Amino acid sequence: MSSDPVLIELAREDARLFQLRGQLAALPKRIDDLDDEKRRVQQQLEECEGVYQKQEKARRKLELELQEVRQRRAKSESRQSSLTSTDQYQALMREIATQDQRIDELESLVLEAMERSEQALVRRDADSVRCQTELKRLEALQVQLRQDLASAHATVEEQSARRDAAVQKVEPRTRSLYERVLRAKKDAAIARVHDRTCGICNALQPPQVIQLLRGEDPTLQTCQVCGRILVWDPDTP
Ligand SMILES: [Zn+2]
Repeated sequence: MSSDPVLIELAREDARLFQLRGQLAALPKRIDDLDDEKRRVQQQLEECEGVYQKQEKARRKLELELQEVRQRRAKSESRQSSLTSTDQYQALMREIATQDQRIDELESLVLEAMERSEQALVRRDADSVRCQTELKRLEALQVQLRQDLASAHATVEEQSARRDAAVQKVEPRTRSLYERVLRAKKDAAIARVHDRTCGICNALQPPQVIQLLRGEDPTLQTCQVCGRILVWDPDTP
């Protein structure tokens, strides 16, 4: 027999517990990080809206001015019939000419402002769609991670009990080594070898270690880096 099924079972239970504890440690931060990302996207959304609102405000201001000058021009024109002297008439004509010139300028400015405002609106709408999609994606990811966290919380004790039960099946000498490593490492004391690396710390193991683990009568080997007990699991992908 080249690998001890009791040890393999223990290594599998240890790996599950290690993974659960890793999730419990890492998920809260990842969930919080997603809050930050959501805030950033929300901010982009508000900035696009802000640019559009600014263009609209500029457009409305110009339109209001155009309206005022047009009203003034109409008033000037209505005064024409009440004038008595040529001087007054010429002064009024100059006033009307100045007003016409300003109306002409403002009409061009309003057209340009409308164009800028329309472009800002198109950009805002496109960005809004993009940001909303991104927000939905982040929200869904967060929901998923919260579920993962809840299920890790719910199963960690059960998994801990399964691991403890698996430890009891191990022969006493190996068990005492296991318990010693566990006290030092606190999370997992045994690792399956995967692709010649320690399944927990991922350190590459020397070929002779692998040979000894896979041999007919495997001797206990520990990871060269993390010190966890190594076990060869033929079913490990
Ligand atoms: Zn290791």
